[in-house]
Amino acid sequence: MAHPMVVTKSAKSVTSVSPEQEPASDLANVTTQELYRELLGRFHEDPHRDGLLATPSRVEKSMEFLTKGYTQDPTKILRGALFDVDYDEMVIVKDIEMFSLCEHHMLPFWGRVHVAYIPNGKVIGLSKIPRLIDVFARRLQVQERVTRQIADAIQEAIEPQGVGVVIEARHMCMMMRGVEKQQSATVTSAMVGCFREQPTRAEFLSLVRQPAAGI
Ligand SMILES: [Zn+2]
Repeated sequence: MAHPMVVTKSAKSVTSVSPEQEPASDLANVTTQELYRELLGRFHEDPHRDGLLATPSRVEKSMEFLTKGYTQDPTKILRGALFDVDYDEMVIVKDIEMFSLCEHHMLPFWGRVHVAYIPNGKVIGLSKIPRLIDVFARRLQVQERVTRQIADAIQEAIEPQGVGVVIEARHMCMMMRGVEKQQSATVTSAMVGCFREQPTRAEFLSLVRQPAAGI
């Protein structure tokens, strides 16, 4: 299907600069699938062999999916899922699966997200938290930023007393290349409001470490 992003954006720059002067701008008129076919050739493959014929179209669809967070609005997702409560203890949702792509190598990193907050009159419908995570994870990311963005979005949506987000993830760019460390996990955290204070932070982290009790 579509490859509208590349084409429309650049139409102007192509007409204003002649292809002879600025050959790079030619790429603006090339479809995403053609770009992937070209890349296959550059990585010593034959893009015309049977097994690879449909690969450019598959990769295009796959990349559209893996980066669809750019077109999603976290406030829209949370709208209609905010509820008034007079509960003021910690709400914690842990072990939420997350898949993302590192922006340095465009290789996957994946792991688990733990989210907690202490309400201040409002809570978020529980099913919305994984969707919120996906809005930020389905982009090219660094783990530190996606952690922070999740915390900030919750803070903005319900202005709780505080928010804590911890992500434990493994990075393919470390496991398959570079240092080739297979077992190392990267842990990042973002603490807002009362989660910056020691007792709350410690309670959150100890709840994260507890196994899920077989439920
Ligand atoms: Zn990387």
